[in-house]
Amino acid sequence: MADLTKEQANQELAKIRPQLNEWRDAYYTKDAPVVEDNVYDKLYNQLLALEQQYPDLVTSDSPSQQVGDVTLPDFNKVTHDIPMLSMGDVFSEAELAEFNDRIEKNVGHEVDYNVELKIDGLSLSLIYENGILVQGSTRGNGTIGENVTENVKTIQDIPQKLSRPLSFEVRGECFMSKKEFLRLNQERENEGQQVFANPRNAAAGSLRQLDPKVTASRKLDTFMYTIVTFDDLNVSTQHEALETLKELGFNVNPTAEVTTGLKGVKEFIDRYGDVRDDLDYGIDGVVLKVNDLAIQRELGNTVKVPRWEIAYKFPPEQAESIVNDIEWTI
Ligand code: NAD
Repeated sequence: MADLTKEQANQELAKIRPQLNEWRDAYYTKDAPVVEDNVYDKLYNQLLALEQQYPDLVTSDSPSQQVGDVTLPDFNKVTHDIPMLSMGDVFSEAELAEFNDRIEKNVGHEVDYNVELKIDGLSLSLIYENGILVQGSTRGNGTIGENVTENVKTIQDIPQKLSRPLSFEVRGECFMSKKEFLRLNQERENEGQQVFANPRNAAAGSLRQLDPKVTASRKLDTFMYTIVTFDDLNVSTQHEALETLKELGFNVNPTAEVTTGLKGVKEFIDRYGDVRDDLDYGIDGVVLKVNDLAIQRELGNTVKVPRWEIAYKFPPEQAESIVNDIEWTI
């Protein structure tokens, strides 16, 4: 997009924001997207570029300042003492290198990354007290989420009692396998109900149910990847956090690898980009996380995303979804 004057940028932003908000409402509130993610991402990146050029045009209600999801009114709400944030994303190796340069400049040296698959589901928070699962919640707007404890208790791979009496919060991704997605959509089609656009929306629509029996009737899975508090746990890197989660009985994606700098990252991206269709769960990219948790704390967060992690997004899959691909040009 050619450089716009401030006045032109303001006019474009006045068109882009409501369009993005409409798509966000369909995606986050109704679990029924009306455009493909890459169409959303393209327009969102235009918004970011304009806001970067004219920072005083950033408004507090801009999608760039909000963590996505909206909480549905019928659910009890929970407050996330430590906000559940979104994640920055990049779409090319050049942007990945820029991210790495930024990190090295801030930290003063090369760092190790824990490289993980980016699971295409929805974020989930689990709270344990003395080893017993007491709360499950969605990310919501990052600070206020939906209480889905009873629904979470129906998910088979989530331990309701840990082998150790730990009190802590863990976070990860709740998702629906491709197999279950096809089964559920077939069932819905047979019953004349609207089918889900993709496994991510099917997972979100299944977890955010007022009747836990409905959630129980659909097979949801999880991959947990974050320990929010470390009391009594000897964990100083993200990779150790994954090992500990596994030991505690959580389902942890087995593919994570530690790499120094960007060495090996491209190979990881290519490897999983090539086999993503063969996996039984959806992935939409690869996540790089600074492995050392002390450095993570040092780098901190923006209002919306951690500075110590980035998602490299795969190009869109061709036959992925049935939603309309609306062209948007400004
Ligand atoms: P995001 O989904 O791109 O990334 C952040 C999330 O990644 C985290 O909250 C976490 O749930 C998840 N995640 C998966 N694997 C992870 C791992 N290994 N480690 C850490 N986190 C992991 O960000 P977002 O803010 O939730 O949503 C933005 C995305 O939603 C964009 O990709 C956009 O395309 C899509 N979106 C689409 C539409 C649409 O209309 N199609 C509308 C709004 C948003």
